[in-house]
Amino acid sequence: RAKAAGKNRAQFYVSAMSDSAVNYLLLENDLRRALEQNELRVFYQPQVDLNTGRITGLEALVRWQHKDRGLMSPVHFIPLAEETGLIEPLGAWVLEQACARFQHWLAAGIDLCKVAVNLSTRQFRQEGFEHTVAQVLRKTGLPAQCLELEITESSAMENAANTINMLNCLSDMGLSLAIDDFGTGYSSLAYLQRFPIQKLKIDRSFITNVDRDDQEAAIAKSIIDLAHNMSLEVIAEGVERASQCQWLGERGCDQVQGYFYSKPLSEEALMNLVSDSERVICDASGVRLLSQ
Ligand code: C2E
Ligand code: MG
Ligand code: MG
Ligand code: MG
Repeated sequence: RAKAAGKNRAQFYVSAMSDSAVNYLLLENDLRRALEQNELRVFYQPQVDLNTGRITGLEALVRWQHKDRGLMSPVHFIPLAEETGLIEPLGAWVLEQACARFQHWLAAGIDLCKVAVNLSTRQFRQEGFEHTVAQVLRKTGLPAQCLELEITESSAMENAANTINMLNCLSDMGLSLAIDDFGTGYSSLAYLQRFPIQKLKIDRSFITNVDRDDQEAAIAKSIIDLAHNMSLEVIAEGVERASQCQWLGERGCDQVQGYFYSKPLSEEALMNLVSDSERVICDASGVRLLSQ
């Protein structure tokens, strides 16, 4: 009987190795191959100045052009990449790709100010990470002031003393630094003040209903004021409607990023947008006008 039960249990474990666990293993092997076989793509989402309507930068966002699953969002493979350590080569690849592409555009006379690249905790905590960045800048020829690195609030606060050291190294190289997903972590304001950063990015969760929910509005307004009181720029993520733009503009938010202006675009689609419009212009009501 015991033996039978044991057998059943083993079977149970096998079947409990659910689709998602199996998927995960398959995905890990796949992701290794994807890196080698060039299945990753970098998309770019414009960031727009609310006062002038001009593009002030691009955020580089990785995608995976999977042979069976189609274009996959990073939320489905970045966590896996972090767990397995694949994030280190993957992140280095995205950084180099974004820097090389931006430098290529600059050389062609297309100046979109700067390109922002996301860093995962593991990448950022890598011994000598600053040398990787310096090497990419040297190799691609991109001026450091055209590169912005984004680190999430929770990642920055995780080992804040260590964060300060790494951010100082990066800042000394002349690039700029932004705190991503701001408002979702637990910031120590004392540390925040000691980070050599230029920008806070208000997390999308505080922007979704900013124009119609008092609580979200209070939080977003507090973050805008905090940023300005610390002489930082502030950008709102996930802006999808004109009414959000208007609300943010009236409260002095500097920049926005979101589907309202543009989804993250392939290189080709971005170049079409830029050549159609030279720059994206909006009027005070937040209506998009592609002109100039
Ligand atoms: P994130 O850095 O906060 O990037 C913003 C995310 O919000 C992007 O999702 C973007 O497509 C999405 N988004 C932008 N505007 C809107 C909007 O108006 N509405 C909605 N609903 N969403 C909007 P995406 O590209 O799926 O990336 C998700 C996350 O994956 C990123 O969040 C970032 O944490 C991570 N990620 C992406 N690329 C990289 C990378 O190269 N390295 C690392 N370490 N992480 C990356
Ligand atoms: Mg980001
Ligand atoms: Mg974010
Ligand atoms: Mg995020």
